[in-house]
Amino acid sequence: MAEHPFDLVVLGGGSGGYAAALRAAELGSRVALIEKDKVGGTCLHRGCIPTKAMLHAAEVADSARTAEKFGVLASLEAVDPELLARYRDGVVAKKFKGLEGLVRARGITVVHGEGTLLSSTSVAVGDEVYTGANLVLATGSASRSLPGLELGGRVITSDDALKLDWIPNRVAVLGGGVIGVEFASLWRSFGAEVTIIEALPHLVPNEDETISKGLERAFRRREIDFRLGVRFQGVTQTDDGVTVSLENGDRVEADLLLVAVGRGPVTDGLGFEEAGVELDRGFVVTDARLRASVAGVYAVGDIVPGLQLAHRGFQQGVFVAEEIAGLNPVVVDDALVPRVTYCDPEVASVGLSEAKAAQVHGADAITAYEYSLAGNGKSEILGTNGVVKVVRVNDGPVVGIHLLGARVGELIGEAQLVVGWDAHPEDVAPLVHAHPTQNEALGEALLKLAGKPLHAL
Ligand SMILES: Cc1cc2nc3c(=O)[nH]c(=O)nc-3n(C[C@H](O)[C@H](O)[C@H](O)COP(=O)(O)OP(=O)(O)OC[C@H]3O[C@@H](n4cnc5c(N)ncnc54)[C@H](O)[C@@H]3O)c2cc1C
Repeated sequence: MAEHPFDLVVLGGGSGGYAAALRAAELGSRVALIEKDKVGGTCLHRGCIPTKAMLHAAEVADSARTAEKFGVLASLEAVDPELLARYRDGVVAKKFKGLEGLVRARGITVVHGEGTLLSSTSVAVGDEVYTGANLVLATGSASRSLPGLELGGRVITSDDALKLDWIPNRVAVLGGGVIGVEFASLWRSFGAEVTIIEALPHLVPNEDETISKGLERAFRRREIDFRLGVRFQGVTQTDDGVTVSLENGDRVEADLLLVAVGRGPVTDGLGFEEAGVELDRGFVVTDARLRASVAGVYAVGDIVPGLQLAHRGFQQGVFVAEEIAGLNPVVVDDALVPRVTYCDPEVASVGLSEAKAAQVHGADAITAYEYSLAGNGKSEILGTNGVVKVVRVNDGPVVGIHLLGARVGELIGEAQLVVGWDAHPEDVAPLVHAHPTQNEALGEALLKLAGKPLHAL
């Protein structure tokens, strides 16, 4: 076996791994980045970017459909799966090219192949061994299923959904979390009849209940069917479609069943445990500074328990590179990671829900305020409704912001600064918002909590 010495070896070239590699190289390390598929990982090739391109196409379809309302005469003829794929894949290809160029420009050695840990300082790829004083594990996640639910044929994952070369007429979606509602939303916009099945009492069950209920109202208006608080029992498929049975006796007929019940870590059979890396249900156990249980080994991204989001992975990657370089970076706090779900209407949040804030601080110690987008000029122009909900500690900081409405994902930047900097509503109330913007709605909620509402009572 030929040995190749580096300062840092990164296993997995997705959001977490490539961010660690880029920052470490910038800080002067010699870095090997081992990737069995394509640098960019799930987010670029099978996740964030292609799905958001599809959701943008969905928005264009809805705009064409509703154009007359805005005084523009247009109509939606059809959604062409081939052209849609060309647009989506073109976006991904361009970003991939840019990323590859960046990795090359930073002098990172990309090793193409499947790596397995040999020890806490070495990774084997075929007959080659890559050694480093430090290792970063970043092998990411893959779609999960339920016990007894076999994937294949018309029972598909999000990876398969992105490869479909036709638009289904009827789809069942198992799971009302982020991935489930995003696909439900885009397929509905493309004209499909959609049914979501969710065992918990609400869609996007990790969000504040006000937002979940608001999304349910909006989906009802869009005629997206959903069955809540009911468990999946089984599915049968024929050449023409699937029949999904639920524990309450209901049946849902569809062309496809999308299984969106979460993603599990990719750590099996990669030599992690043999090298002394402790796992918990497949996830790598780390401390807050992302150190695994063996000295010199770190883990980032979806294999670390917590939010499975690309920007969390990026930040963890940067953190680890800086930690190794002795820069004592600030720990990545999951509680401050912004979350956006890009269905229509969008959902965005940061910090604590009202229920969680009440648990942490006591129900009497917090105040929650909801400002309806009905009072916001720009939202009226766009024809969207929704809500901005702000949760504060009384005489204290804002601890949670929750948004629902078209385009509100773009408001999360301001929301995260307010929550991340422990701002009191009184601190930010004097800051002026441009008019007419949707940011004003957040401003109005903060003004109200500071005791001086302008366009609210
Ligand atoms: C449909 C969908 C939509 C999503 N949308 C969003 C979104 O809008 N916003 C958001 O923030 N997040 C989104 N995500 C989540 C996001 O994609 C992940 O959180 C992110 O990609 C995790 O990064 P990672 O580096 O941990 O893992 P990954 O991106 O999964 O990368 C891991 C990499 O490691 C490689 N690898 C694995 N094992 C080995 C091995 N043994 N040897 C070599 N290479 C290996 C894999 O090929 C892969 O490239 C979405 C996910 C999905 C599935």
